[in-house]
Amino acid sequence: MAEVGFIGLGNMGGPMAANLVKAGHAVTVFDLSPTACDQLQEKGASVAGSAVEAAADAGYVISMLPAGKHVAETYLGDNGLLSKLEGSATLLDCSTIDAATARRVGEAAAKLGISFMDAPVSGGVAAAAAGTLAFMCGGDAGTFKKAQVILQDVGKNIFHAGPAGAGQVAKGCNNMLLAIHMIGTCEALEMGARNGLDPKVLSEIMLASSGRNWSLEVYNPYAGVMDTAPASNDYEPGFMVDLMVKDLGLAMEIAQQCDIDNAMGQLAAELYSQHQQSGNGKRDFSSILQKLQKQH
Ligand code: NAD
Repeated sequence: MAEVGFIGLGNMGGPMAANLVKAGHAVTVFDLSPTACDQLQEKGASVAGSAVEAAADAGYVISMLPAGKHVAETYLGDNGLLSKLEGSATLLDCSTIDAATARRVGEAAAKLGISFMDAPVSGGVAAAAAGTLAFMCGGDAGTFKKAQVILQDVGKNIFHAGPAGAGQVAKGCNNMLLAIHMIGTCEALEMGARNGLDPKVLSEIMLASSGRNWSLEVYNPYAGVMDTAPASNDYEPGFMVDLMVKDLGLAMEIAQQCDIDNAMGQLAAELYSQHQQSGNGKRDFSSILQKLQKQH
């Protein structure tokens, strides 16, 4: 049993914190939203009045915040965790943010001798609730070892990607590839359908051939092919287009910083951005198929 401070109780952080309570940890939470705090209190967590208060007695601190600016403020601000924490807590930021901010926080923590790791997740709200998230961690080996103890109660696959910022880079690489193979899968299925092929049969053919990929295997974008996929539920998310556009923006920043000519990634980012601007932000990201179909 550990003392855990948890900051940011939104769609992802709420169920993660609840799973830590369920696993028997003493969890103290903070969110700017009192309603979010109340919901965790009902599940057995204690509520603090600030991030620093939530972290004060904790052995582990986990944050799950919207973007880099919130993480920078929480850790590096005047009343931030790095300047106020006195104990030897292990700090884990699970938010999806820009790799530059993650490195900045990691380096500032290292200078103070504080264990910090960026640990963004793969898997959406359902995986957060089921405790099956994948974590991609950036930090030193000692911090990774300590982090595993607690992350195993909220996730299934926990990877050490490399030093500070490497978790965010891994997440950017993964989501850029996800966007590319989802769009490629949509194009292949639509091309087959326009030539009279049944998308279900074509999916079976490609799944047994070299076009096999995750979008085809567990998340088929064609309605009716796979009962459990968002496509068969009017593209209810799942993983929203808004979040894919956010993640692709972060991936494009990483690409620019390392000067790679990622033509496919850039095109995927542009297509998802157009799809978002057409009013699809709150729909599942596999709805990009309908963008192709509307061109017909
Ligand atoms: P959300 O908007 O539902 O929740 C964010 C929470 O943080 C809110 O409750 C908000 O009140 C709180 N918050 C904001 N600033 C704060 C501060 N300074 N101190 C304390 N609390 C603060 O977002 P979410 O869907 O839970 O996503 C959280 C992170 O996880 C994001 O970085 C997102 O990109 C990432 N992520 C989300 C998903 C998903 O499917 N939703 C999947 C993978 C990763």
